[in-house]
Amino acid sequence: MDPKRTLITNALVLATMVPGATPVRDGYVCIEGALISDVGSGDAPDSFHPDDVIDARGMVVLPGFVNTHHHLYQTLTRAYPPALDCELFDWLVALYPVWAKIDEEAVRLSALVGMAELMLSGCTTTTDHLYLFPRGKTRLIDAEISAAHAIGIRFHPTRGSMSLSEKDGGLPPDSVVQTPDEILRDSERLIDAYHDPAPAAMVRIALAPCSPFSVTQELMRDTATLAREKGVRLHTHLAETRDEERYCLEKFGVRPIEYLERAGWMREDTWLAHGIFFDDAEVERLGRHGVGVAHCPSSNMRLGSGICRVRDLQSAGSPVGLGVDGSASNDSSHMLAEVRQSLLLTRLAHGARAMKTREAFALATTGSAACLGRDDIGQIAPGKAADVALFSLEDLGYSGAGDPLAALLLCQPTRVHTLLIHGRRVVEQGRLLTIELDPIIEAHRKRSAEMIS
Ligand SMILES: [Zn+2]
Repeated sequence: MDPKRTLITNALVLATMVPGATPVRDGYVCIEGALISDVGSGDAPDSFHPDDVIDARGMVVLPGFVNTHHHLYQTLTRAYPPALDCELFDWLVALYPVWAKIDEEAVRLSALVGMAELMLSGCTTTTDHLYLFPRGKTRLIDAEISAAHAIGIRFHPTRGSMSLSEKDGGLPPDSVVQTPDEILRDSERLIDAYHDPAPAAMVRIALAPCSPFSVTQELMRDTATLAREKGVRLHTHLAETRDEERYCLEKFGVRPIEYLERAGWMREDTWLAHGIFFDDAEVERLGRHGVGVAHCPSSNMRLGSGICRVRDLQSAGSPVGLGVDGSASNDSSHMLAEVRQSLLLTRLAHGARAMKTREAFALATTGSAACLGRDDIGQIAPGKAADVALFSLEDLGYSGAGDPLAALLLCQPTRVHTLLIHGRRVVEQGRLLTIELDPIIEAHRKRSAEMIS
């Protein structure tokens, strides 16, 4: 049987995000099966006979956004009262005991809620960083992979880890850390079971020790060795706060970046969450090695952490992508809103000319895709995966808007109208087609209340 053919036509503006290409009016996109086959302006070629036509009149069409950092389980602890006004370390210490109550069902529910939010805001690929494995809870990542499959999102779960508890000078309590042996064995199991290196893959695994203050240096090194043996990427939190910098200097006698280098992580298969406190020489060093950074503006503002040097890192050669970060420090998974935050924060730090709206969209598409080591997502072009977001500008908040693409960021962030992932329509008229959301929200609320009580 021939693959299903879908035509998106009449787009008000089509921004393909192909580097160098400018957005076009009256755009069309031809999709065959899971891949894009043709893109252009005006009428699609007569030779293309679609089974399904999506009329994008009045809509802005973009590649689906790619989220490079999240902790989906944290949707269960949004706006947690004891952690409302804390900086990172106090915030973590307040939340660890609550998070210690997660299990497979809590992970399934929280993943579905976070992924639904992401998809409804135009996101088609997400990572997750799950680093907390209470005793006996060994199938948490399996649970979120099955949630991703059910809801239809492209998924890059990272197998997180914590091995350094309070009694060994780390930050987390003993009940949520694992031994290095348990961590490495489970990392290998997950890669063998789920990692798909093929183009347009729906699931890829990466390995992700949590941070310098929650794992041992040996585990950082051994994780890098395993990742390279298996051909998967590396991810961790780095240089998020001044507290972390002080911790590294006191504990290891070096700054976070030197710590990373000594662990063998300074390569282009690594992307870091946050990456705020780098000096000029460190920015240059990261760029030279092609280390990626997941910029998380809302979380950084919420925790008062600092401002990532996005433009400097890009100039130095680092891919910079966008991440919503976990929902206990954002506390939302709205990717379009996050693109807006990145634009506003960069302009606040460096002036109104420091970032154009198109450049902010590039962070969430091509930049994020590069962080994940992918060139088959984040662009609308022949041969790329058919992950496409359509935003309608019919809403109240866009009335009177001039430039449609700019309006999407400068006006109030909206829900996506239609979303395609892997060539499949997963959102229509702002409603999720793949799962029934109401019972999930109800069960999620209940579980959250049980955990925080
Ligand atoms: Zn994080």
